Amino acid sequence: MLKLVWEASIVLVVFSLVACSEPPFEGVTPESVVTLTPTSEFNPPTATPSPILRLTPTSEFNPPTATPSPILTPEVHRSFIPLAVVPERSERPQGNPSTSTPRGAILALIASPSPAPTATPTAIRDLLPDGVLRETTVPILMYHHVGEPPPGADAIRRDLTVLPSEFEAQLAYLSEEGYQTIHLSDLIMHLQMGSPLPPKPIVITFDDGYHDAFTNAYPLLKEYGFVATFFIITQLADEGREDYLSWAEIKALHAAGMEIGSHTYTHPDLREQPYDYVVWQVLGSKEAIEARTKGPVRLFSYPSGKYDEQVVEVLKSTGYWGAVAVSQGAHQSSDRTFKLQRIRVRGSYNLRDFAYWLNYWLEDSE
Ligand SMILES: [Zn+2]
Repeated sequence: MLKLVWEASIVLVVFSLVACSEPPFEGVTPESVVTLTPTSEFNPPTATPSPILRLTPTSEFNPPTATPSPILTPEVHRSFIPLAVVPERSERPQGNPSTSTPRGAILALIASPSPAPTATPTAIRDLLPDGVLRETTVPILMYHHVGEPPPGADAIRRDLTVLPSEFEAQLAYLSEEGYQTIHLSDLIMHLQMGSPLPPKPIVITFDDGYHDAFTNAYPLLKEYGFVATFFIITQLADEGREDYLSWAEIKALHAAGMEIGSHTYTHPDLREQPYDYVVWQVLGSKEAIEARTKGPVRLFSYPSGKYDEQVVEVLKSTGYWGAVAVSQGAHQSSDRTFKLQRIRVRGSYNLRDFAYWLNYWLEDSE
């Protein structure tokens, strides 16, 4: 009897060894699994928090603040959500537009009846650059005012002001041409981590945080299911200036899925300034926005497009992912995420000019 049990044990052990030596799946060796999933090491499971915290450059530079840590704030708009083809206008979501985000509305159309926010991927929480040099052509449109120029407006003001009718024609053109708007952070995640982008991505940005971006541009963006990035001069919001976005409007834009970036505290020329002054301008404005929106601010727009290497250094050390300049172009690169090129949309453009210059810079960047 004992002998029988002993022999049975040996058979079991041998069988176990043979079973363990089998590859997990037929024809797939462990090496090929690693080869086929090159990004796996950059997306650690959420149950292992320490690598994320160590690899996040912002964590050690963020001074303690009274506001919740932006890294820990749940955030649904960070990751790129691959969008299906933007529906025709007749198919666009009806109902109360103020309660449906553009992305959410489109996702709802795709995955109805599930509510959009719960379908939003949240696995990618932080930027974990993989060191790969990536280049891509993504136009970043630069707007300021959308509205009627005030009586007696000078040439500069008219140049910065796109008529609402022209703005709508431009959005209609982009929609018909198959463009899909992405956040600027989506572009940076693509450049730094290889995150996917839609076939024809485009970024829409507004500098200075003018009030008409909320009253005139935002409703049209919603109508077309587009998102945009708004760069805020936070002192003007603090002062409650009526020609600039209020904090309530900035919060509403963020809640609706728009991206909020910093355009400094007072809009100075940041070149050759004392180090502490630059920190105050870029970190102070960042924290001011984060305290209101409860979401991280990752993008920056240089006032008048002017910067030097010290500004870039401070931006990197205070948790920014990238910055837009005013140099014209659509060629973006992972080694120039703090020098992203844009395409200025001038107030004098009709639709033909708009399409001409967009395609000019796209071809120039190929
Ligand atoms: Zn500006």
